[in-house]
Amino acid sequence: MCFLNAHYANQACANPAYRRALAQADLVLADGSGLALAGLILKNPVRENLNGTDLIPWLFKELPSQRVKVYLLGARPGVAEKAARCLRGIHPKIEIAGWHHGYFPEDQTQEILARIALHKVDVLLAAMGAPKQELWLAEHLPETGAGLGLAVGGLFDFLAG
Ligand code: UDP
Repeated sequence: MCFLNAHYANQACANPAYRRALAQADLVLADGSGLALAGLILKNPVRENLNGTDLIPWLFKELPSQRVKVYLLGARPGVAEKAARCLRGIHPKIEIAGWHHGYFPEDQTQEILARIALHKVDVLLAAMGAPKQELWLAEHLPETGAGLGLAVGGLFDFLAG
């Protein structure tokens, strides 16, 4: 699941791999007034204007009471850990399976995938900016075994303060 704002839509026009990743997503949510305006012009209005920093904390609050295992991937070193603490505060039943910063070299990908898969996570939050996070999820989500992959942009920075 990912978000699309006017800037990302422009990027997607010039980046076929990003377009394919968006097309592959189960849900692309419209973020910002640019997309709302485009929807009106194209006579295909968007139903809601949503962004990750609003939706994700709400989503976690609404989770059922059973434990949900979450892995945080992205942002600068140290930030995901702080964001994890904040998410636990929002919903104490969240089990943080782990985290990793988003500036790892390509040759560490397999190691990170193995780590996520080992924890059998339910939700993978990918916060590496667009389109990197969408491309990463499109390529690797099945290997992680996570039931849900969310591309969340600057959410960890926001949560970490
Ligand atoms: N980021 C990352 N790896 C990268 C590039 C960016 O983890 O190679 C992180 C960056 O530190 C920030 C997030 O991705 O936490 C992107 O934030 P931004 O606000 O730019 O994203 P947006 O919400 O606009 O997609």
